[in-house]
Amino acid sequence: MEPLPVGILTVSDKCSEGLATDTSGPALEKLLLSQDGAWTIAERQIVPDNTQRIASTVRSWCAPLEDTDDTGSPTAAGRCRLVIITGGTGVSPSDVTVEAVEPLFTKKLGALATAMVIGSLKITPYAALSQVTAGVIGRAVVLAVPGSRKGSVENVQQILSVLPHAVETAGAVHGTRHLHATSDGKPIAEHASMPKPRIACGCARTDEDSGGVESQSQGLSNELSGGITGRARKSPYPMIPVSAALDQVLSSIRELPAEKLVLNQIRPGQVLAQDVVARENVPAYPASIMDGYAMIASDGPGEFIMRTASTAGAAAQEVNEQNPLQPGEVVRVATGAPMPPGADAVVMNEDTELIESTVQGDEELRVKILDGTRIVSGQFIRPVGHDLKAGTVILHAGTVITTVGGEIGTLAVSGNKSFLVHPLPTIAVMSTGDEVVDVLGSEVCDNLQYGSIRDCNRPALLAALKALGCTTVDLGIIRDDPDVLAQTIRKALDTCQGVITTGGVSMGERDWLKPVVEQQLGGQIRFGRVAMKPSKPTTFATIPQGTGSRSLEKFIFALPGNPVSALVAFHMFVAPAIRKLAGHLLRLDSPGPEQILQALRPSVRAVFEGADYALDRVRPEYVRGSLIWDHGLSCWVVRFTDQKQQSSRMASMRCANALISLPCGSESKPAITRGEWVNVVVIAAPEL
Ligand code: AMP
Ligand code: MG
Repeated sequence: MEPLPVGILTVSDKCSEGLATDTSGPALEKLLLSQDGAWTIAERQIVPDNTQRIASTVRSWCAPLEDTDDTGSPTAAGRCRLVIITGGTGVSPSDVTVEAVEPLFTKKLGALATAMVIGSLKITPYAALSQVTAGVIGRAVVLAVPGSRKGSVENVQQILSVLPHAVETAGAVHGTRHLHATSDGKPIAEHASMPKPRIACGCARTDEDSGGVESQSQGLSNELSGGITGRARKSPYPMIPVSAALDQVLSSIRELPAEKLVLNQIRPGQVLAQDVVARENVPAYPASIMDGYAMIASDGPGEFIMRTASTAGAAAQEVNEQNPLQPGEVVRVATGAPMPPGADAVVMNEDTELIESTVQGDEELRVKILDGTRIVSGQFIRPVGHDLKAGTVILHAGTVITTVGGEIGTLAVSGNKSFLVHPLPTIAVMSTGDEVVDVLGSEVCDNLQYGSIRDCNRPALLAALKALGCTTVDLGIIRDDPDVLAQTIRKALDTCQGVITTGGVSMGERDWLKPVVEQQLGGQIRFGRVAMKPSKPTTFATIPQGTGSRSLEKFIFALPGNPVSALVAFHMFVAPAIRKLAGHLLRLDSPGPEQILQALRPSVRAVFEGADYALDRVRPEYVRGSLIWDHGLSCWVVRFTDQKQQSSRMASMRCANALISLPCGSESKPAITRGEWVNVVVIAAPEL
């Protein structure tokens, strides 16, 4: 069984100010990690004895989300299944832990608390002075135990044996997990119920408390007019797993309505919305497959009179139904030329020799078909409809037009004038940031001012979008001004299905994207943080456009500013969205979750090559990799593009064709080592 994620919260004014060392937190950590891999530490924090701080921290750790992420790993912030709070359970007025958490309980586990107290009382009568409590919040069991190292450990020890069962039972969610699970138990996209962003209403109640009815809040972001001193110091957006984020994206968008296009408007990446039927036979006439001579097969080898020639596009006029080829005669034919009536075979030039030509020497009179030449009736002739039969389906609805050219070529010979296809989306791209300098305009600056940086996000994203076949609109670089941002996005959404922005989505003072989306554009942020490294602040929002039957939802991907984060988020979420919009799921007949994911964001298993790499303990990591087929081992192998994998360093994306999907680490599995199998998201065709 996968280890269950635990959050340990130390509540102490002194520890939070650095005036005392937290010893009970580490002791609890040690205790849980000694339980044969049953637990893994997902969250650790120290907060002062403050009701609000305790409540908001615990609430954010107990979000009722999926308990595995995209990589199948068990831990990510916001998804604790057990929370142990140590401290603030005494009898002094400053001890407020119990007051802070009990109102959050959806179920009080009184007997669990009693078991802790009874056990501890056997050790010390002072246990009677501790306000130990236990309950359920979301999918997590929450315990509040004393602040002393000894007392906290002794209390938890009393119930250690029943804790895993308590947690499993408290966290059982009927009817959702199976919807998300693939055959191997991984959560996955599409058709599943989506976790809704929680509304930070400031009170101590959870979504579940309010019976699933959302409050009237406009969203989670800071007030635009609130000023720097009023901003939140922690993101109010719950950090959701990668799989839940992709679910959100895919459930928010639909295939773009099909339109009729003529052949030269159709591009690779588009998907046919209708079966294509051949209107004509190809070839429309019996045609020669060889440059040679048409003859009557039963004549066999020998000398022949050359009656005339039939070249491609110009049938021999004088040999026709009324006046067909006679025994002893041949007609010179070119590849693709119509067969003269009466002839039933073709011999190749190479099997003949010239016997006699005209006096001028410009035409053949007699040719010899060499002895031993094999001649069978029908040889080297393509009969009518040999390549395509009129009336048959030659391309099925759902077929993806590839860069190979085969589908476009087949459409070309089908005899149809136009075709019903799903369009590829038109996407607008902007970079944001006062420090960002343009490189796409005609004037590329020579000397960057101190503090400025060149825009690498916009060029990279525009190129990646074009490679997927999208039409792009370049919105340029927009300064960190909420009004300008809102105006530019609003205008772009008039003509585009979606807008991609980079920068301005984190916790900085000029990070305006989230408030702009919520407060100025009337959008709904579907997620504002994802449990992944890099790309944590990746934000996805939908914006309703129009009213009544003409209403439709447009979307915004507000990607992080760091270049690698932006590109990783693009390949993890935007590229699958574009494929879905373009109809790439339509080729699948009642697909399962695994097939959907493969169609929209393909991945392979590969052997990891390289030095040991420490796994992140909190977020699954997507490391830039180079994937190749190992001909010796007959499997995919993947290695880091380079050892410097910072999210600011675009160079780590150089020559990357894969994102190596690394699960969260734990005490028992701290690193990935050479030779291990890893999951790899393929972002470009590997070299073979
Ligand atoms: P932000 O989220 O806007 O604070 O951006 C995070 C980091 O990414 C900052 O160091 C930015 O300077 C950098 N950054 C933002 N936009 C771009 C861009 N278009 N190209 C390169 N770096 C960027
Ligand atoms: Mg910025």
